Amino acid sequence: MSAENLDPADWDAFRSQAHAMLDDMLNFTQHIRERPVWQVIPPDIRASFREPLPAEPADLTQIHERFMRDILPYSAGNAHPGFMGWVNGGGTPVGMLAEMLAAGLNTNLGGRDQIPVEVERQLALWVRDIFGFPQGASGLHVTGTSMANFIAVLIARTARLGLTVRQTGLAEAGAKLVGYTSSAAHLCIAKAMDMSGLGSDALRIIPVNRDGEMDLDALQSTIARDRAAGLTPFFLAGTAGTVDIGAIDDLAGLADIARDESLWFHVDGAFGALAMLSPELAPLLSGIERADSIAFDFHKWGQVPYDAGYILVRDGAAHQSTFDFPAAYLRRETRGLAAGSPWPCDLGPDLSRGFRALKTWVTLQSFGTQKLGKMIRQSCAVAQYLKHRIEQEPQLELMAPVALNIVCFRFRSEDADAINRRIAIALQESGIVAPSTTLVDGALAIRAAIVNHRTGFSEMDALVTATLAFGAKLIDA
Ligand SMILES: *Cc1c(COP(=O)(O)O)cnc(C)c1O
Repeated sequence: MSAENLDPADWDAFRSQAHAMLDDMLNFTQHIRERPVWQVIPPDIRASFREPLPAEPADLTQIHERFMRDILPYSAGNAHPGFMGWVNGGGTPVGMLAEMLAAGLNTNLGGRDQIPVEVERQLALWVRDIFGFPQGASGLHVTGTSMANFIAVLIARTARLGLTVRQTGLAEAGAKLVGYTSSAAHLCIAKAMDMSGLGSDALRIIPVNRDGEMDLDALQSTIARDRAAGLTPFFLAGTAGTVDIGAIDDLAGLADIARDESLWFHVDGAFGALAMLSPELAPLLSGIERADSIAFDFHKWGQVPYDAGYILVRDGAAHQSTFDFPAAYLRRETRGLAAGSPWPCDLGPDLSRGFRALKTWVTLQSFGTQKLGKMIRQSCAVAQYLKHRIEQEPQLELMAPVALNIVCFRFRSEDADAINRRIAIALQESGIVAPSTTLVDGALAIRAAIVNHRTGFSEMDALVTATLAFGAKLIDA
């Protein structure tokens, strides 16, 4: 008698099925330009995803067919060159293969003495070098910048209040901590303050100047007012690449203020931080090397498949002491599988973790930082081209400066907010290009965020042409 397991009964049949799946996904990327960016989901297909829980097995060939027919065509489309909505990376076939290798290995990156953990440590050293951080800095792969920002707030809290806050909690610590960021910062920073128990009201929202950068005078006077009111300023989050218009705060100016006021200086560089890989763009981020922590995503401008966020911390000891927790079942040894402490689980909230580091390690090796930096620079050149095209079209209006890779514009008309909202939907439903919208000084703008390495000049031409056509049609109607 042999026990059952979940491996294939017929490995040969399974192998040809596996190769068919691989071929389908390679074809998907190779021929992605022949597809619409996105398409409206037919109601019957949506409804088909309300089946009962399967008790009996189904054939993998049929599941694969279903994936190709009902799932693949109706994803958001961020791999497509016409996708320029929100801030999404495009991924690469190389990254896809790395995901397969990692999934095949199925190792748990919480810890233990294994080379996959060394791969993640190698990555931390590379990230340290990208940002010019000192020896002793530490880093951790996380889901995304939202999680990385949360981790940064927790480390800053512990650094300010001392380790006992981890046992006694905020109420016992007594200090009224307040943090600072700009009105252009991503909402996940307020969410991080909320999740850390400090409350989103403890985040002071500092206004921005015409270019979308934090107003340093307003920051200083707000800090002074808070100190006078008996509060404890502890955290300052600058942004390298704001989500709306791609503005970069004066990071060196923020670093000076953080030093003078003894604040933890954090940079949310979700997409913008990796501009460090481009020698031409890196000077725009001057001051980032002075941060106490940096949150960013490899899944945006790094083109690593989702999800691949990162937190880098200057003081590795402060990082570890915020999260390590002794437990008998996680006891460390000097030999055997339980050797090699500290482990990644000592640096963040997750114990079990996938081998995310592999796809990033493979991506960095496969392309090299120079090529990745060149692609980032290219996104900015494509954005400048779009800006230029918009300035040439009397019917279009540029809504914000273009510091990096995001262009906000609109079709000039009466009731412009409503018309441009409808243009954005029409563009998405056309399947030609998919921008998103945002508000710039309270006015609705069509927003093209050039993040995907596949997005080039011809997609900008298509965007301008289609916007003009839909705009004309809508004002005629
Ligand atoms: C995308 C983004 C975030 C959120 O990052 P996730 O990886 O989606 O969690 C935070 N800040 C900025 C500036 C962003 O662009």
